[in-house]
Amino acid sequence: SYQAQNMLVTGGAGFIGSNFVRYLLGADASVRIVNLDLLTYAGKLENLEDLPGADRHHFVKGDICDRELIDKLLREHRIDTVVHFAAESHVDRSIHGPGEFVRTNVVGTFTLLESARQYWMAEQKLDKAALAAQRRFHHISTDEVYGSLGPQDPPFRETNPYEPNSPYSASKAGSDHLVRAYFHTYGFPVTTTNCSNNYGPYHFPEKLIPLIILNALQGKPLPVYGDGQNVRDWLFVTDHASAIARVLQAGKTGETYNVGGWNEKKNLDVVEQICAILDELSPRKDGKRYGEQIRFVTDRPGHDRRYAIDAGKLERELGWKPAETFETGIRKTVRWYLDNLIWAEKVTGSAYGDWIAKQYG
Ligand code: NAD
Repeated sequence: SYQAQNMLVTGGAGFIGSNFVRYLLGADASVRIVNLDLLTYAGKLENLEDLPGADRHHFVKGDICDRELIDKLLREHRIDTVVHFAAESHVDRSIHGPGEFVRTNVVGTFTLLESARQYWMAEQKLDKAALAAQRRFHHISTDEVYGSLGPQDPPFRETNPYEPNSPYSASKAGSDHLVRAYFHTYGFPVTTTNCSNNYGPYHFPEKLIPLIILNALQGKPLPVYGDGQNVRDWLFVTDHASAIARVLQAGKTGETYNVGGWNEKKNLDVVEQICAILDELSPRKDGKRYGEQIRFVTDRPGHDRRYAIDAGKLERELGWKPAETFETGIRKTVRWYLDNLIWAEKVTGSAYGDWIAKQYG
């Protein structure tokens, strides 16, 4: 099985990246991680406090589009494994400003691929067998590249055609295709995972679940798009981290694996479930229920109706299984936010307040 030694993680100060770094440093006592992150509004050093094995973690602030910097990091740290999370990740932001999505998600991924290809293949002159055994470029992507499902459609499989609908998912689809092409054209050792919606600790409060928890506690409206019947498939973020670790260890180069927790939920049900947990763990002072704060707001343009993922390949071929159900994971998440309100305060500045005001009025 594959063992990473010197890993470059991109976007490791973001939500999933920081959870992955935390998970892997704890699970693998020998791996060294260089964490490259531009610290955009979504990347926070607060997400990396109190890491286990912190002496094996080295943070670098920088841009994945900066070829000179990437070249230098790969050589300086003799990187054998790249795990690529860095991206612009928020669909609503991609509607208002798609340019940054193309730059980071497409050009950034291309820059990383080119730099690693140059280093591993032209300079270190590793042949295909050596590359497959000793090097890995793992690309993190989303189920949104597959488009939207009708109510009766089977969940997305790896063989589904790509039908991205937002600038975000289109830019991610572009990056997936580049990664795929590097395998087929150059024999470059890639693996890709396409994952469903994540939730859990360190989730930036512009996304549905943390936004609802924090707004509820502040007595603010709980915005639900459209009729709230849109369906998302949810995975607890640590389960995503364990899936990536498993694919690194045992995945076949050139393959893609869907990652999901078989947890299809309507948005409104998710919001109501959070309200019920809050009613129990941190009841409103006035004796009313949090559910009263729910407000329906104008739907986002091109809003995909339903995503659902079939993670059967990953389960069958690599023996991966999620540890959390939605019920256990959402409870842990609400608990975490209640215990970490200071974190939430630290990561949301005034820029965030302006953005939320613009979005949800
Ligand atoms: P996030 O927005 O929380 O984190 C992205 C990180 O990338 C941030 O720390 C940001 O500072 C960094 N970044 C952005 N542009 C950069 C650049 N040019 N150079 C270096 N760093 C840069 O996003 P996330 O939710 O943690 O998503 C991580 C990855 O997982 C993304 O590739 C996303 O497409 C994918 N994904 C997310 C979900 C989800 O539910 N959140 C689901 C499936 C896949």
